[in-house]
Amino acid sequence: MRLARFTHNDNFGYAVIESNQVKVLSGHPIGELQFTGEVLDLSDVRLLAPVIPSKIICIGKNYREHSLEMGTEPPSEPLFFFKPTTSIIGPEDFIRIPSQSNDVQHESELAIVISRLCKDVPLGRVSDVILGYTCANDVTARDLQFRDGQWARSKGFDTFCPLGPWIETELSNAQDTKIESRLNGAITQQASTSEMVHTIAELVSWVSHHMTLLPGDVILTGSPAGMSKMVSADVVEVEITGIGTLRNKVVAYE
Ligand code: MG
Repeated sequence: MRLARFTHNDNFGYAVIESNQVKVLSGHPIGELQFTGEVLDLSDVRLLAPVIPSKIICIGKNYREHSLEMGTEPPSEPLFFFKPTTSIIGPEDFIRIPSQSNDVQHESELAIVISRLCKDVPLGRVSDVILGYTCANDVTARDLQFRDGQWARSKGFDTFCPLGPWIETELSNAQDTKIESRLNGAITQQASTSEMVHTIAELVSWVSHHMTLLPGDVILTGSPAGMSKMVSADVVEVEITGIGTLRNKVVAYE
């Protein structure tokens, strides 16, 4: 099932997407679904980021080849950091290049969406706390990341966390699916989620042993290799097999 958030005629809402139909939900999609009966055409709505989490937790260096291109072996324990929720944008929204950076790069990542309040989740119970998965772009000002020594600024600009196009709740092979980036149509990243250093179950369990996770919280699982700079007028796509394609345009901040 595809859970989406949308706007249509100045109204906002959640919906289940079935082929080209937008079946509108009343209230929030976490928990028991209730349909209003209204059905819209997908081409008539604008999809938004599918979730507004209390926090975005990002895993660093979770694909060996990417860690090596960053200059280090992968960490033995999951390394995580935060992006502010104000960095979230939706499908087709603009990624804005800030004036402070000359090297803004894309990072295609599988994003986990949490379904319920949880803490200290054992490995064997992780599937009970996952609502589904969506595509994410962990946009990074690489020059600032190397300069600062910590990553809050380089990862935290407005528009630096595209999410979408929807939450897929039935991705049965999340740990072995293809993830690909395209910049102006040319492939820049291509990997399988089976190449993660720390698995999805290990990441959720690990993070939950450090902090409480709330419904809707998002965990970005790390980027494969293929660091690529984006400039104004570029179009960047994150495609994950079984979920869909998240597409954004790039523009200089003015
Ligand atoms: Mg990343």
